[in-house]
Amino acid sequence: MLSSTTRTFITKCTSSSPSSSSSTFRNQTKMDLRTTFRVRHSRSSSSSPSREDCFVDSKEGDTITTVSLQEWQGWGTTSQLPSMVVDIIEDMKDLEKNMDSQMNFGGIGGKLKGNFKVQEDKKHRATYQALNDSEKKLQFFSARQIACRLLGSKGYLCQKCWLALEDCMCSKVIPSSLWHGMRFWLYMHPKDFLRQNNTGKLLWQTFGVQAATLCIYGISEHEEVMWNAFEHAGKDMVWCLYPNKNALTKSVQDIVFHPEGFDAHQPKTNGAEPLNFILIDGTWNNSAAMFRRLERAQLVWGEEDLPCISLTTLGASSMHRLRPQPSWDRTCTAAAAIGLLSELHLHPAFNSHGLDNQADMLEDSVDALLEALTSRRLRMGRSITRRERHKGDVC
Ligand SMILES: [Zn+2]
Repeated sequence: MLSSTTRTFITKCTSSSPSSSSSTFRNQTKMDLRTTFRVRHSRSSSSSPSREDCFVDSKEGDTITTVSLQEWQGWGTTSQLPSMVVDIIEDMKDLEKNMDSQMNFGGIGGKLKGNFKVQEDKKHRATYQALNDSEKKLQFFSARQIACRLLGSKGYLCQKCWLALEDCMCSKVIPSSLWHGMRFWLYMHPKDFLRQNNTGKLLWQTFGVQAATLCIYGISEHEEVMWNAFEHAGKDMVWCLYPNKNALTKSVQDIVFHPEGFDAHQPKTNGAEPLNFILIDGTWNNSAAMFRRLERAQLVWGEEDLPCISLTTLGASSMHRLRPQPSWDRTCTAAAAIGLLSELHLHPAFNSHGLDNQADMLEDSVDALLEALTSRRLRMGRSITRRERHKGDVC
């Protein structure tokens, strides 16, 4: 049987997480397939190309690990390569030189391994501790997570679908146009970046990166783009899908939309801003901290809260078919987006934009991901049932 090195695919960077562990309530917009498709660490033999073959360039005798702008953008973003990520990669290269020991992400989970890992752990913890401000700590934490994932996934994951190359599902995704009057923002925790069972990525795989834009928590190059867009759009055009316990949470029916400049059958006209919907793409535990960061809306728009909406159905109908799959969490990010599209379609102001069909297209992508992940588990001889006991493996 074909078997590849098993990995959870998450580089372990646990020591300095600033995330809140609070989970007093459940954010309906997040979660992914991790609880089901958590891959247990194991050391199986590998038929995949070795990491060293995949991502290490040799130049003038030195081993140099790099991430190019093109490669960065290939993972699903149009932003510049974050400067702090570049700095951290440079630091890791320096450490590699000083130690005369090659960094190794081999084997399982895209994790750093061996002596290099030990030394790098010491170094990054010291750097983190020395930072005296929480904003800098968060940015460092996020950038290091991203740097590790970029290096550890190189040559192993398909850039478009974030699955192992042998599991690539790209041919199963049918690109679709999202109604030009709306735009999704996937506000993603760095630990969910390049996670195979993440479902937020399905939004831009299906609708494109302009219609569904990745914004990684704590990556300033991403957050600035997002906030600039929100500021330009105006507060009335920004909604966060989140049950804010401190404010009156509204429903889709409360959205007031002024359709000037929009026509269902015409391209967006100049000056017409789309409705922006933020989906928080992280674990329950991380979502509270992520939402608090979004509350910097107060800096942009004054004292008022970030406008939030909750779904009334949570896309129950669209996810119904998936229920037999015990591994699927009904509240995954893509399900939230499907639910939002479905509920918007029932709103009189939006019912002529084909949002129901767009929900179906996204659901097809969800099905394709589920199938790919299921096939992988079966191929590896693993159960596809929920395995709670591995819950801690990848978080
Ligand atoms: Zn692919």
